[in-house]
Amino acid sequence: MLSYSETPIQPLKSDFLAKERITLLVKREDLNHPFVSGNKWWKLKYNLEEASRRGHQTLLTFGGAYSNHIYATAAAARVCGMESIGIIRGEERLPLNSTLAFATHQGMHLHYVSREAYQKKSEPEFVESLKKEFGNFYLIPEGGTNQFAIKGCAELAQQLQEIKFDYLCLPVGTGGTMAGLIAGLHERKVIGFSVLKKGDFLENEVRTMAFEYSGQEFSNWNIETKYHFGGYAKSNDALQRFIRSFEHDHGLALDPVYTGKMMFGILDGIKQSKFEQETTILALHTGGLQGRYQG
Ligand SMILES: *Cc1c(COP(=O)(O)O)cnc(C)c1O
Repeated sequence: MLSYSETPIQPLKSDFLAKERITLLVKREDLNHPFVSGNKWWKLKYNLEEASRRGHQTLLTFGGAYSNHIYATAAAARVCGMESIGIIRGEERLPLNSTLAFATHQGMHLHYVSREAYQKKSEPEFVESLKKEFGNFYLIPEGGTNQFAIKGCAELAQQLQEIKFDYLCLPVGTGGTMAGLIAGLHERKVIGFSVLKKGDFLENEVRTMAFEYSGQEFSNWNIETKYHFGGYAKSNDALQRFIRSFEHDHGLALDPVYTGKMMFGILDGIKQSKFEQETTILALHTGGLQGRYQG
């Protein structure tokens, strides 16, 4: 239903990497689709299949005003000929930012709820009230994370399995992508970089999700929690400078919410000799570049 473009692996070259004797590769999954890009493509793949198998014509999901998941879901619904509803946290602000303007342009109906109401979004009464208002829909949780998303990310892992590397690195929001990759990869170490301030709970989340999906326990992974730069969607001058100079040096764009923090963490880890010499690191570019030009 969604088209998929094969994505390249981009080796990064620098004197620093040469001196440290580290090979750093970037899997450009940001290029897999023009609008449903990065990890969101994989998280939506089996959700779209399931929605259509169950005869749904409408997708409903949740997110903040800058959510990549809202953006991707709106585009995916359009491509698949479905309706979409986005339950947005907070009040409407006009003019719409580019994420919400894009979503609206794809035909997504935006419905704003207060922060208090938004916190109850998983409760059955709230979902029932949405059904009364909008009719029947296929519900995709915030960030797109559920068992179908994990299945898609485990499939991405099978594709990565072909590449020669020692460590796979990725940014972590809800942990759904990481859970799928851990379950799908064998005998390779996975390092997640939390973009949330209080990211300690993520380890449990990821462990539980990977177990629920696969029935197995995995131990070859960990989550770094000190590269959050103040928390979700927070940033500072150091991060902004890093992203600019990285783009200048490598011709590769990073976003400040996810991939910028991951790449900063990877290079800091190399600086601190956390990786042995002759190691190959594969960094997953999970996309998110549409958020880069917004305030
Ligand atoms: C949504 C998103 C993530 C986080 O994925 P989770 O499965 O929620 O951990 C990472 N990177 C980008 C670019 C994203 O849009």
